[in-house]
Amino acid sequence: MIAKCANPSCSTPLVYLREGKIFMVESPSQLGVVGLAPMGPKAQARVEHFWLCGPCSLSMTLTYDSQQGVQVVRKVFQSLSARAS
Ligand SMILES: [Zn+2]
Repeated sequence: MIAKCANPSCSTPLVYLREGKIFMVESPSQLGVVGLAPMGPKAQARVEHFWLCGPCSLSMTLTYDSQQGVQVVRKVFQSLSARAS
């Protein structure tokens, strides 16, 4: 399933789940962009799991883009206190 950190430029193997962060990404049922392999139509959305290692999860996060699929992006440090509740 998950073999290594989702960051393409990081090769940390997945050993301990408690290190780092697991992301669950729900792929839309209309594949074709994310799934390049024609595996036949699937009715349900698939949930894919991605893992960022500890150091990467501190500065990176995952985002889903319908055009490009799952991408590892640098966290944007916005002021979280703007809408603190
Ligand atoms: Zn990493």
